[in-house]
Amino acid sequence: MIFEEAQRLKSLPPYLFAEIDRVINEKKSKGEDVISLGIGDPDLETPAEIIDKLCNEAKNKDNHRYPSSYGLKLFKEAAAGYYRERFNVELDPETEIITLWGSKEGISNIAYVFINPQDIALVPDPGYLVYSIGTMFAGGSSHIMPCIEENNFLPDLGSIEKKVAQKAKIMHLNYPNNPTSASCGLEFFKKVRDFAGQNRILVCHDNAYCDVYFNDSCKPVSFLNAEGAKETGIEFNSLSKTFNMTGWRIGFAAGNSHAIASLGKYKTNVDSGVFNAVQYAGATALKNWKAYSQNNISIYRKRRNMVFDAFNKTGLKYYKSDSTFRQPQLNTTKAGV
Ligand SMILES: *Cc1c(COP(=O)(O)O)cnc(C)c1O
Repeated sequence: MIFEEAQRLKSLPPYLFAEIDRVINEKKSKGEDVISLGIGDPDLETPAEIIDKLCNEAKNKDNHRYPSSYGLKLFKEAAAGYYRERFNVELDPETEIITLWGSKEGISNIAYVFINPQDIALVPDPGYLVYSIGTMFAGGSSHIMPCIEENNFLPDLGSIEKKVAQKAKIMHLNYPNNPTSASCGLEFFKKVRDFAGQNRILVCHDNAYCDVYFNDSCKPVSFLNAEGAKETGIEFNSLSKTFNMTGWRIGFAAGNSHAIASLGKYKTNVDSGVFNAVQYAGATALKNWKAYSQNNISIYRKRRNMVFDAFNKTGLKYYKSDSTFRQPQLNTTKAGV
């Protein structure tokens, strides 16, 4: 028997990466050496110390029970320590941080927390599809904010109609950005904070690539660096890209305590927390963020220079950004995938 899917599943766009995977596998089966420029999934190893921590904690029977849906105190304290050292942002680990099953989980679930049917979320385009799909799942609709090269791949907040802005409940943003690879400075985040404050919008900033950058003089900042940003927003952060931990499923959200509490209220009803052993290992990663991220950056920098050399030889025009895995080709209708 085939069971009819709910409308929300029928409304999904075709999953782009499935087609890319098909082409890659076809080439590989013919023995070709394929370098995948598709989905951003680090091929580097998780540092050994983090893996050892997981193994040891997995043997402790105290960790075999249900974890807290809100997260392990020690992990949240490590996340607060990381925000203090990395961004000079102070967070209360108890009320302003929540552990996530990877940031994708939180980015998707936040729609169920704040979006009623017919509500609007402001969503960047091009962008990570979870922003609009999470919104659709919750019955809301996405208002597209075009992010074009002429505007440094930033949305033009002034072009958002007043009635749309007033109706919007959430604004999704992501800098350093996937897929355009653009970054933004604190000035833009201050404008976002003011816009969100005026329109009672919760800013959801996805900072998955904050530690994949190549130029110390434009080191990515946090949305929470904008003074008073905690009033209007939260930031999603992920251990996936910074520590080569995509398979581990661990991240966190930080910022506005009311929004964090609401997300926790939702999560107690859909999941029962992240395995504590994974959170202990995550804390080890966050405590040593400087050494691990610098190691990654030095490897990515070498690879990036090779790609630049190849692009230059072919005369391809490309956007030479200072962050993320991507350096998209320009003059295409879409900046990349
Ligand atoms: C990879 C990525 C994430 C991280 O997702 P996790 O669920 O934490 O692994 C979030 N946002 C964007 C834009 C990404 O590319």
